[in-house]
Amino acid sequence: MTSGGISFRFAEIFASLQGEGRNTGRPAVFLRFSGCNLKCPWCDTDHSVKFTLALDDVVRRVEESGLSSVIFTGGEPTVQPGIADLAGELRSRGFWIALESNGLKPEGFDFKFDYVALSPKPCFDALYRADAMFAAADEVRIVAENAGAAGFCRRMRREIMADDYYVSPLDSGGRPQLGTAMELLRTLNSELPRDEKPWALSVQTHKFIGIK
Ligand code: SF4
Repeated sequence: MTSGGISFRFAEIFASLQGEGRNTGRPAVFLRFSGCNLKCPWCDTDHSVKFTLALDDVVRRVEESGLSSVIFTGGEPTVQPGIADLAGELRSRGFWIALESNGLKPEGFDFKFDYVALSPKPCFDALYRADAMFAAADEVRIVAENAGAAGFCRRMRREIMADDYYVSPLDSGGRPQLGTAMELLRTLNSELPRDEKPWALSVQTHKFIGIK
């Protein structure tokens, strides 16, 4: 095992069901790393450091869960040093490993996860340059910050190759702003060529049933 003395910063580790996107309903261990390279004004995720763990201890926690899928989330997992070592170790043990990222790719980051879900943020439009972001993913989910997010969604669809593109409602005081999301979907889908897969709605179903 490659431990290399790396210590990972976590907000939490928990077992749950994936609540959004194409893998909705999939049981997984969620590794919520602390720290993020963005500061979205509406962020409701506590990604402050609650504890640190060495690589071997993270693997042990995952093994103890009895689950076969692991989702790296945050915060922003890619800013965490040693993430490729941890992902590689888990994969060598047969785990399906997925990455949830805001899409800004740190220089030199090239580990290939089994599944990548990107959630680029319209409020940081200017940071999403070709040399600073992922160019491919399995799915892209964009939060409908407002109806004006359409231009950003179109650009992300042109610049990130993915199988599925989703719009997610902004959560405001525990209430998903579904109207804004649906209006954005109407705009985006009404202009797509007939042979293109439409944008779809992705809601955080885990919040509706009171799980993490
Ligand atoms: S990218 Fe995600 S974790 Fe980071 S500030 Fe934005 S919403 Fe929060």
